[in-house]
Amino acid sequence: MSQPADPQELQELQEPLRVARKGEQPTRKGPEEYFTGAVTIEPLFPASEPARATANIVSFEPGARTAWHTHPLGQRLIVTAGVGWVQEWGGPVHEIRPGDVVSIPPGRKHWHGATDTTAMSHIAVTEALDGKVIEALEKVGDEQYGM
Ligand code: MN
Repeated sequence: MSQPADPQELQELQEPLRVARKGEQPTRKGPEEYFTGAVTIEPLFPASEPARATANIVSFEPGARTAWHTHPLGQRLIVTAGVGWVQEWGGPVHEIRPGDVVSIPPGRKHWHGATDTTAMSHIAVTEALDGKVIEALEKVGDEQYGM
């Protein structure tokens, strides 16, 4: 018969609580294969095993947007500033504003970004499957971009 785990012992095996300071990880430009226009990505936290969730602050200048893409386990977007647009393939364009939360189902083709006239920032929370968080598809052309 095994002893119940001692909470003190368990705690010693785990990492301590950690505070990551603002700007600890450098902000980078959004890579061209995933985005159109000026986009910056500020990492908040990576997916560290066994957790799967990773988070970034993504900021889009007016006119900037992601390419069409999918996420293997879906994605949540929490809008923090400005006005943006989000659309799933075959669906309407939704206007999104600070405080809005967008839930994108696993495997769903979609894009998100600023409007043509207003910048937008969101926190993106994405879960990794086998280390993968995104599959990039074709760019959102000017004829597709807009309401
Ligand atoms: Mn997405």
